[in-house]
Amino acid sequence: MTLEKYQSKRSFYKTPEPKGGDALKISQAPVFVVQEHHAQNLHWDFRLEHEGVLVSWAVPKGPPENIGEKRLAVQVEDHPIEYGNFSGDIPQDQYGGGHVDIWDKGTFETIKWEGGVVEVVLSGNKLNGRYTLVKTKGYGKNSWILMKQKPKEL
Ligand code: MN
Repeated sequence: MTLEKYQSKRSFYKTPEPKGGDALKISQAPVFVVQEHHAQNLHWDFRLEHEGVLVSWAVPKGPPENIGEKRLAVQVEDHPIEYGNFSGDIPQDQYGGGHVDIWDKGTFETIKWEGGVVEVVLSGNKLNGRYTLVKTKGYGKNSWILMKQKPKEL
């Protein structure tokens, strides 16, 4: 499990966020979720299910919706699968204090997941199609670029 960092940052008697470890996985396809998070700095959290957790990135300007667009995405700690259903208010004195809404949710197919490259095809309500995350240098050590790309030729 890689939730230690997630759990160590939060007081679960104070925040309504899930502690994790209770997920009952019913659907077969992996899930993605994007949460609009009105924390001190508004951002969108982009999360992909991978090996039993939601691997997560904070995207300050929100995920790109048009082919060719690129956005900075800062990787944050893995979140529990249950977090994909979370919306609500994190108390202001807690880590990430502020309102969280589910902005989009769906399933995805993985084309590539290795080292600093994650390539997926999303099937959501707002986000659909091929998205690539590439780890990048120059914006701090956890920075990636999230891009929406043309569908691949078959
Ligand atoms: Mn967040």
